[in-house]
Amino acid sequence: MRAVLMGPPGAGKGTQAKFLAKDAAVPQIATGDILRKAREEGTPLGREAQSYMDRGDLVPDAVVIGLIEQRLSQQDAAQGFLLDGFPRTVPQAGALDRLLEEMSQPLHDVLLIEVPEEAIVHRLSGRRTCPSCGRAYHVETAPPPADGRCGSCGSELVTRPDDRLETVQARLKVYAESTAPLRDYYAARGLLRTVDGVGPVEEVTARLKAALRG
Ligand code: ADP
Ligand code: AMP
Repeated sequence: MRAVLMGPPGAGKGTQAKFLAKDAAVPQIATGDILRKAREEGTPLGREAQSYMDRGDLVPDAVVIGLIEQRLSQQDAAQGFLLDGFPRTVPQAGALDRLLEEMSQPLHDVLLIEVPEEAIVHRLSGRRTCPSCGRAYHVETAPPPADGRCGSCGSELVTRPDDRLETVQARLKVYAESTAPLRDYYAARGLLRTVDGVGPVEEVTARLKAALRG
């Protein structure tokens, strides 16, 4: 599998990527998770990314492209990968194309998860996130364990600062302006498959699996 999982914030990319990547035995590469970890560790990358992330803006292309170049060159990505949250702009997609061409590893699939805006706001306002493994919970639809710790790795769950309503609205605007154009970019290359992201998690997983070609 060499695939990209796209969709607005809260579409369920992280939730679904965990199942699809495990099933295909490839790494899930989530730029948001990598940036949050760098921020927590206070690395130069994390310090540079912080203000953009807190505002709901995109981190500059050059930073995220550099990060992906480095990550895709690691050994575990040689047999495939599932990108979650990258690319998010047309220049990022162009850079990915060039990189994969150099590696002679073209993309097989771009899956776009579609969810209406009202559902997104509900999902993000109730999201609780594991800062260690990235697993997402929802206070109503996927409740976390009673002790507030991640059921997969035991870390204390957090509410992401960018899941506040004002920031969610900023992120949706950024998605519409900068990321939605990727739909046409990948449709023109015959790679795009659109999947309905509303419904039980396992039904959405089945739809995504059915849409995969690689
Ligand atoms: P993304 O990675 O696209 O931002 P997440 O996978 O973190 O999205 O999911 C966002 C929120 O929506 C989380 O609280 C998650 O538990 C919840 N969620 C994910 N998939 C579904 C679904 N099919 N139905 C309802 N809620 C969902
Ligand atoms: P996510 O976890 O995918 O919702 O991403 C959280 C935040 O990280 C985004 O709002 C951006 O600030 C930043 N980010 C993640 N991926 C990218 C990307 N591909 N390009 C630019 N910024 C990104």
